[in-house]
Amino acid sequence: MSERVIPLVDQRHPSLPLPTLMAGQDLSTLPLDGLRRPLTDLRISVTDRCNFRCSYCMPKEVFDKDYAYLPHSHLLSFEEITRIATVFVGRGVRKIRLTGGEPLLRKNIEILIEQLAALRTPDGQPLDLTLTTNGSLLARKAQSLKDAGLQRVTVSLDGLDDAVFRKMNDVDFPVADVLAGIEAARAAGLGPIKVNMVVKRGTNEHEILPMARHFRGTGIVLRFIEYMDVGATNGWCMDEVLPSAEVIRRLQTELPLVQLDPSVPGETAERWGYANAQGEFDSALGEVGVISSVTQAFCGDCNRARLSTEGRLYLCLFASQGYDLRQLLRDPTQNDHTLAQTVDAIWRGRTDQYSVLRGLRGPDMASGPGRRVEMSYIGG
Ligand code: SAM
Ligand code: SF4
Ligand code: SF4
Repeated sequence: MSERVIPLVDQRHPSLPLPTLMAGQDLSTLPLDGLRRPLTDLRISVTDRCNFRCSYCMPKEVFDKDYAYLPHSHLLSFEEITRIATVFVGRGVRKIRLTGGEPLLRKNIEILIEQLAALRTPDGQPLDLTLTTNGSLLARKAQSLKDAGLQRVTVSLDGLDDAVFRKMNDVDFPVADVLAGIEAARAAGLGPIKVNMVVKRGTNEHEILPMARHFRGTGIVLRFIEYMDVGATNGWCMDEVLPSAEVIRRLQTELPLVQLDPSVPGETAERWGYANAQGEFDSALGEVGVISSVTQAFCGDCNRARLSTEGRLYLCLFASQGYDLRQLLRDPTQNDHTLAQTVDAIWRGRTDQYSVLRGLRGPDMASGPGRRVEMSYIGG
């Protein structure tokens, strides 16, 4: 099949220069960044393409038929991804999330999952291996993903009302098919399943309570995400953000909640458990989460790095430039030791804390200088 190659002139900014390595750079301790945060979580984008056009992520007007997606030769191969993932595991990563674009569109993704599922931490433990999907192909793929070694999935779902959902994905995709995907994931044992709902004021805020009622008591954790100022194409404005505190307030009008402790350090979601008649957390009813990426900065514990589809390492979701690791992966003179030293040096130089700064400087920072990469390219 011939592939149309369009010159890349858009969001993919020049990469940052790779750090110069010191002779004999020591790998005996795991790296901490400039704010003393460890590197434990790696998100890998396996494609920049998607079959949805969620307006907050890949608006139709920008991601149209002329949009210059990456040509196949620019994508990291499965072998390259597995090699760099192995290096990251050696430098402290314990959790890998596959994302995109829509990761289930990447051909033979099960092969990559098999390779990643076989990785072990230095003390012999398997990784926490998960994937974020829009759920459109999940009914078809849940069992093969499980068989390949995937542990769990997070499914994005912005409402239960079919008309609202079709409008938000903007390709007229029916909600019933995503619900069938979630059911297939549950039947295949891809749990605990999380469902992410991006809340946009004026668009799907009335779906908060129906979504909570639907998933309460099912073992599926519903998480409400504040609409974020990622990328440069979604026309973000603060007026469309519904603060998490307001989400919790609205839930509480009908479904009493109690706040729960974080389950792991660096957790992005604040956890709230459904309460019983005595006002205590009832584990049979389960919990919800809120991810307050706009109104409450959680950079202090941010242990996440992101690898773009073409092998650039981004240190923050709101970064405008990344480090080109593909260049090293494709250079026969570079070995895994140099790769590890490079990853260490990059991580040690990290000082990113965009949300904290946005909190200090105000929402206008979202439209300020330094165009950010798109979430579909860097991965959510
Ligand atoms: N296509 C997959 C999906 O939708 O689950 C994976 C990639 S998507 C970029 C990852 C996550 O980012 C999704 O849960 C999506 O809802 C979220 N996301 C995308 N744009 C966002 C925005 N502007 N604000 C908040 N969340 C966003
Ligand atoms: Fe596609 Fe996910 Fe972005 Fe929606 S959020 S457009 S499903 S990549
Ligand atoms: Fe991490 Fe950047 Fe998000 Fe802060 S803004 S939590 S540093 S990804």
